[in-house]
Amino acid sequence: MILNGKEVAAIIKDNVKEKINLQLTLAVILVGDDNASKIYVRNKKIACDYVGIKSLVYELPASITQNDLLELVYELNSRPDVTGILVQLPLPKHIDEAIVMENINPLKDVDGFNPQNVGALTLGAPKFIPCTPLGIMNLLAHYKISIDGKNCTIIGRSNDVGKPMALLMLAANATVTVCHSHTKNLTDITKTADILISAVGKAKFINADMIKSGATLIDVGINRESGKLCGDIDFDSCVEKAANITPVPGGVGPMTIATLMQNCVLASELQRAQ
Ligand code: NAP
Repeated sequence: MILNGKEVAAIIKDNVKEKINLQLTLAVILVGDDNASKIYVRNKKIACDYVGIKSLVYELPASITQNDLLELVYELNSRPDVTGILVQLPLPKHIDEAIVMENINPLKDVDGFNPQNVGALTLGAPKFIPCTPLGIMNLLAHYKISIDGKNCTIIGRSNDVGKPMALLMLAANATVTVCHSHTKNLTDITKTADILISAVGKAKFINADMIKSGATLIDVGINRESGKLCGDIDFDSCVEKAANITPVPGGVGPMTIATLMQNCVLASELQRAQ
């Protein structure tokens, strides 16, 4: 089965659209002119327009100081009309991403990267969960793919994907293995995975010889090969052997954005409950 993230994301966005009965505003900060980041921000704005969330996009030069960026974050933190704040990553090297994340109001932290939200997720009482891993959980739930007791291997240990993904899979009772660039004999591990999630960022990194027959393959990677978008998983080689697979594009990417819309609604609910 092809896990159609585009289709499921459309359902989620329609649900969000129906649910919104107040003016919500998402503030997105884009620093510098990284092309991929510009595309992600544009797609988030399109989703906001669709569901009826107002978006404010702040495009700042790569040369901005950390203090000036933090000043904008403080201003957005204190503005009652701003529901959610998202700082598009990566940031230029002279800016400490951790400090910026630390300073986003945890109740407006729709990306779930503030340490308070990361801690809550770790302790099993999450508020905001990072959009990509939560989007993957939503996709698996939509297709009724069971997780309980399954071997789940995640390749990648980033703060935005690999680590929160591992926590969500653990919470769903999977037996979780996290691999990274120092992992030895990767294929021996990936071949045991009932659910294999790749978040590496290397085109066609996973081929059919590396997967278990009947596995569910979730491809987080966004790569370009000869100008064409592709994932970490060699779709053509794996599609017959896998039971389920996400395509790139049209798999995890749209789910990430739809989940961001859900997180904006959650932000509004949490702030009203204060
Ligand atoms: P990242 O921070 O660069 O992490 C990549 C991970 O891959 C690291 O943990 C790295 O290990 C591991 N890795 C690198 N080479 C490896 C190898 N040969 N064997 C095993 N592991 C290896 O990237 P990220 O932010 O998690 O993103 C990963 C990919 O997903 C990128 O293509 C990104 O564009 C994409 N992405 C997509 C979405 C979406 O919505 N679809 C969202 C976020 C990211 P070390 O830790 O040891 O370096």
